[in-house]
Amino acid sequence: MRRLAPYTQWPVQTALLQQLYQQVADGRVPQALLWIGEPAPTLKFAEFFAGILLCTGEAAPCGHCPSCRWMAASNHPDWWLLRTEPGSQVRSEDVERLQAQLQRRSHSGGRVVYCIAGVDELHPVAANRLLKTLEEPLPSVVAMLTARSSLRVLPTLRSRCLAFSLPADPKAPWDDPLSSRLAGCWEPSSQAFAAVCSRVIQWTEDLIQGTKPPLQLAAELHELAEQPADADQQALGTADVLHLVSLCLRDLLHRVAGENTCVRLPASVKLSHLSNLTSAARLAHAIPVVLDTKARIQAHVGTALNLERMCIRLQEVFSGVHRDWRPL
Ligand SMILES: [Zn+2]
Repeated sequence: MRRLAPYTQWPVQTALLQQLYQQVADGRVPQALLWIGEPAPTLKFAEFFAGILLCTGEAAPCGHCPSCRWMAASNHPDWWLLRTEPGSQVRSEDVERLQAQLQRRSHSGGRVVYCIAGVDELHPVAANRLLKTLEEPLPSVVAMLTARSSLRVLPTLRSRCLAFSLPADPKAPWDDPLSSRLAGCWEPSSQAFAAVCSRVIQWTEDLIQGTKPPLQLAAELHELAEQPADADQQALGTADVLHLVSLCLRDLLHRVAGENTCVRLPASVKLSHLSNLTSAARLAHAIPVVLDTKARIQAHVGTALNLERMCIRLQEVFSGVHRDWRPL
């Protein structure tokens, strides 16, 4: 097993998934997993997880190795997906054919991953067929099943899998969701999004350390909102940038509180050194200032003026920050 990319890059994050991450990072890959939730997000996550298991590059899923490229093109020879059109069932013959292919393929030595979607809809004969496969696992084969509800999965199947609930909305772990425009245009795991987040984090650092005057901070936010990160991307817009600033401050608040699991922005691990520079009270005060400004700007009230006022208020909130930590 190759090294894994940071957990913060997983598109879905829950406490249980973090345990799974650790388990896989330690080289203990489960033989059978059950993803529970709505069909589209569970399938998407199954594909993401298969990509990790099959990646041959560094920091899986690396996105560059032949395996990751095959996954992206949906033609990976060691990734098998069995699903049916709405209204029909996976049949016993389908499972049987898959079993035969797995037997052949796993002889080549590499890992093989398969997914059977909608096992709660499985015909009982097909379910029994599948059960036999799960009971006699091949060493290099990882099984994944998806279901809408774990209660509707045959207990004998369920008991052989490590089960994980995935949120109905894959963006849900952001818990204050990204605006639909932002979520629609930006893949949370993409490099372009990570680049924007890095700039937001840098901006937050400058704010908290008091290294720049408020008017310069306001101008930088304006620039970040107006400039696309790369040629194929739209500019973010001020409301979305402020949303990211509020997420960044909340990540920091979680860190100040000693909690590291609620990280929402990629690369916000970089925030950890900032958590010594401020307090939970100041952050709790700052977040509504940002959200209030976002609401005003969305209501089309003077963008530039509001950004400047926000930066002045935020700097008041964080001022005296150096007195907080310098042991004088
Ligand atoms: Zn890869």
